[in-house]
Amino acid sequence: MRLEMGPLNSVRPTMATHFREATERCKSHAGVTMPSFRCVRCKCTKLIKGRKSVVKGTGKFGYHCASCVDEIENPTPGGSR
Ligand SMILES: [Zn+2]
Repeated sequence: MRLEMGPLNSVRPTMATHFREATERCKSHAGVTMPSFRCVRCKCTKLIKGRKSVVKGTGKFGYHCASCVDEIENPTPGGSR
């Protein structure tokens, strides 16, 4: 018996695993029966209530969740200035 130390044996953590962890972290209270979508800004699964399309009139480019819309339209005072 010998140890296989070739490059094919060095298994790195996959993107899939990382992606799944991120998804589960963001799930919060969005249940399976609730209408939800993935916000393109915070990358979290959110309820569709209060969402807005990135490009007005089309959902082709994804949606922003209610909290992201609020941040975009009402930037925190003193944040950038
Ligand atoms: Zn968001």
